[in-house]
Amino acid sequence: MIKSTTVILIILSLLLIAAACTAPPQPVDTPTPGTGEDVPQSGTPGNEEQQPQGNDQQEEIDLQAVKPNEAGKIMILMYHVIGDSEGQWSRRWDNFEKDLEVLYDKGYRLVSLGDYVSNNINVEAGYTPVVLTFDDGTQGQFNIIEKDGRLEVDPKSAVGILENFHQKHPDFGLEATFFVYYPIPFRQKELVEYKFKYLVEKGMDIGNHTYGHANLGTLDADGVQFQLGKMAAETGKYLPDYKVNTLALPYGANSKEQYREYVYEGVYEGVKYQNDVVLLVGSNPAPSPVDGKFNPQRTPRIRATDDPTISTGMYDWIEHFDDNPHDRYISDGNPNTVTVPRDMEDRVDASRLGDKKLNIYDLE
Ligand SMILES: [Zn+2]
Repeated sequence: MIKSTTVILIILSLLLIAAACTAPPQPVDTPTPGTGEDVPQSGTPGNEEQQPQGNDQQEEIDLQAVKPNEAGKIMILMYHVIGDSEGQWSRRWDNFEKDLEVLYDKGYRLVSLGDYVSNNINVEAGYTPVVLTFDDGTQGQFNIIEKDGRLEVDPKSAVGILENFHQKHPDFGLEATFFVYYPIPFRQKELVEYKFKYLVEKGMDIGNHTYGHANLGTLDADGVQFQLGKMAAETGKYLPDYKVNTLALPYGANSKEQYREYVYEGVYEGVKYQNDVVLLVGSNPAPSPVDGKFNPQRTPRIRATDDPTISTGMYDWIEHFDDNPHDRYISDGNPNTVTVPRDMEDRVDASRLGDKKLNIYDLE
């Protein structure tokens, strides 16, 4: 059954991909390497695999060595097609694997989008959170193949690569959000439910990308609610206990101002939906969730590419953070405290701290 439909599915996916995400991202800002404060990079985390510490007994960290900065910036990376070729909206599978290796080696660790938004960032001291997002639910993101009469995750699909990487480096994490649309998320019709349940069981997330990859800017209140509510409702049929509450805007296009409230919440056929975070197709790292500039309704993302014609891709920002470590979110290892160097203190919006304790220190 799978084999007989593969060719049709591939053709369909190519058509859908060609139709999707053709609008270029609008750069909001450009990276400004060299303009940050040049703090010598020390204590850059290496490859050591350490188990995260429990929350109960927090060890004191050496602030001058770790240099935690929980007011620093966080990259939310955006992928589209994962496949055999590299292009404006596609990443070759082995390059995706390379991306994970580079992130890991440079001290980045995965957190979920929900944990970023709710400031529930739990990574080891000295490490930097990073969020993975995948738009469009293409087959190469999560492909199931038949091997010796059994179904298995294609090791060249994003989920397969992530799982293999996580097996080698359990401390990297496995969090990712897949922003899918209908009628066939991940393009294998018989396997939608299997894949959804698989992802959620592994702690990964399904996000809203509208029901039919709609441009929300062209729709009225009913149209916006149909596109967002039907997507959430259809997903609920497969995952009754799971709430879709994150949105990536197709084409990066938001609704007209007068219908904006329906982007964040609305009702479709009597069922409510809510989006706690709305992701742009952007080109900047996102502010820390305690930063006064933090705005979950307009959260920027970075394109995961090393395309030299794009100056605001993931590798440009990694280089920026290598050169300007003071600009980068560095965890204090304790999810109950927010530790910030004194010169970053004014970035912190105290109303966003919740029950976390703010800990300001002086860099020597
Ligand atoms: Zn899209």
